[in-house]
Amino acid sequence: MKIEPADRVKDLPPYLFAAIDKMKSAAVARGQDIIDLGVGDPDLPTPEHIIEVLRVAAGDPVHHQYPSYQGMLRSREAARDFYAERFGVALNAETQALTLIGSKEGIAHMPLAIINPGDLVLVPDPAYPVYETTTRFVGGEVFRYGLQADNQFLPDLEGIPAEVSDRAKMIVINYPNNPTGGVATLEDYERILAFAQRHDLIVLSDLAYSEMFYEDPPPPSFLELPGAMERSIEFYSLSKTYNMTGWRVAYALGNEVLVGALGKIKTNVDSGVFGAVQEAGITALQGDQSCVEEMRQTYRRRRDLMMEGLKGMGLDVLPPRATFYVFARIPNGIDSLSFAGRLLEEQGIVATPGVGFGERGEGFIRFTLTVDEQRIAEVVERMKQINI
Ligand SMILES: *Cc1c(COP(=O)(O)O)cnc(C)c1O
Repeated sequence: MKIEPADRVKDLPPYLFAAIDKMKSAAVARGQDIIDLGVGDPDLPTPEHIIEVLRVAAGDPVHHQYPSYQGMLRSREAARDFYAERFGVALNAETQALTLIGSKEGIAHMPLAIINPGDLVLVPDPAYPVYETTTRFVGGEVFRYGLQADNQFLPDLEGIPAEVSDRAKMIVINYPNNPTGGVATLEDYERILAFAQRHDLIVLSDLAYSEMFYEDPPPPSFLELPGAMERSIEFYSLSKTYNMTGWRVAYALGNEVLVGALGKIKTNVDSGVFGAVQEAGITALQGDQSCVEEMRQTYRRRRDLMMEGLKGMGLDVLPPRATFYVFARIPNGIDSLSFAGRLLEEQGIVATPGVGFGERGEGFIRFTLTVDEQRIAEVVERMKQINI
């Protein structure tokens, strides 16, 4: 029998949210009013001045042919200028920046660009699943290092055995963090860089949430550290900052060997980002940034409201300092899948069980702040009805 998927597809972990999806469909079918706090996708529209640029650029025949593989130089220069201004990081737009079809695309292609079969990658637990699955796709091995609540969800580097760190080729970090909301300071990054230098590791930094913060100072870039450029690649996405998840535009920035390797893979896989979308992305980065401050204020208000609901339900959780995720510890030893099931069945609230992000996510539940304040107020009321 040859009509079957490859082993790498068959070996994919079971889809953990199938049970939740089924319950959700059943709830919708019986007419229950569902409030979905499950998906990490902004509910707000893309700012109008960005959409307008796409409208005009879509009509320009220049963009009707294949775009350049690396991204238009002006698009990469916009990312370079943004990094210079926001982070004080100097980049060469031609060799140290690549335009991506969303950062998921770039992150997913990184193992193909730098991991040989048997190479080991250090991946956080809990985490965005893409780091691990795509490492396994190319025959790489994964060691999951812990992010613990009592350590502000920073990497437990001491918990990694020395022989593992020495054998590893790359460490993946993601701050501000999905799903935990954890934030790393420059001092935290220094500790990670020192570790990477000690063990000669590549650092892959996923910076998707750098602008979604509620407290000063703004989250730094890993590339700000002296010496980071020698071994690091960072992924910066327009998706969350400008409500552009549907547009698919992001950047890979950093070490030119790493950026170059990713670029070579992409040359053989895709043909770049639609030029009109790149034009819109340039405007997002260079235009009026008041939309970003509005976005922060919106989520901050939602977050503060949500805290009340969690208290009402008896959950003790600190307000996240960044991201639109609230990662709450579930009391009384209830497992996260059962708890998510109860929230949905009893109150029509969809949330993501922590175990879906890795075994150390067990005992937690993730709420995304992607409904308006009126709906969050409704969530707060419903949560008061739940007795844990
Ligand atoms: C949303 C998200 C991204 C961004 O993905 P895009 O492909 O750029 O839309 C990257 N990393 C994490 C952890 C995310 O949650």
